[in-house]
Amino acid sequence: MNEQTEQLVLLQEIDLEIDQIDNEIKKEQEELDQRISALAEREIRINELDSSIETLERERRTLEDEMTDKIARVKERQSKMMQVQTSREQTALLKEIEDAKRNVTENEEKIVAIMEQVEKLTTEANEEKNVLKTEKKLLAEATKTVGDAIDKINKGKKTKQNKRDKQAQSLDSAMISKYDLLRDRRNGLAIVNVLGGVCQGCFMNLPPQQYNILLRGDKMLDCPSCQRMLYHQELDN
Ligand SMILES: [Zn+2]
Repeated sequence: MNEQTEQLVLLQEIDLEIDQIDNEIKKEQEELDQRISALAEREIRINELDSSIETLERERRTLEDEMTDKIARVKERQSKMMQVQTSREQTALLKEIEDAKRNVTENEEKIVAIMEQVEKLTTEANEEKNVLKTEKKLLAEATKTVGDAIDKINKGKKTKQNKRDKQAQSLDSAMISKYDLLRDRRNGLAIVNVLGGVCQGCFMNLPPQQYNILLRGDKMLDCPSCQRMLYHQELDN
């Protein structure tokens, strides 16, 4: 391996370690984000329950008002019965009273059904609110734990970053630009080993002539398939 290649391989080793640190941070944050969105969903569910309860209560009040009117109507009709002259009038009035009474009964049944539903929804909402309260408390604790963990990881990252910056100084800026671009476009791997003539980045065979040049180790080569920079180093067994 020539000097530049060796320095690039070392740089990439550090960069891959930093990538791993970034992944750890991302993973910690993602777990927390999932819990935050689960909590938000529960809050939405509670709001839906509360608004259903409100709608039902409004419906109940309307029915109660209607019932008050109907009861008054029954009383008014009943008192009119005294003044009725003909039996035809009496029959008509009796029918009106019966209809009004039936309406009152129907309203009562509707009100009871609504009250039962409200009770059921209120129980569910209260359970959800209790769970939410506990989850909020746990989330606050987790946020702190994750924050501390990320701080700790970041401290380690800073050390690695310093090491990286020092390592990068051993390479010229054109080489670093090429390396950064490749890492960006080739999934974090800018320079790869070639084993048995096969590029370990894209797993394509290198043309034999180029492989021979690479084996001599004095010249830098790029993979004709994936454009990554290449080196050759037998694996220790
Ligand atoms: Zn390749």
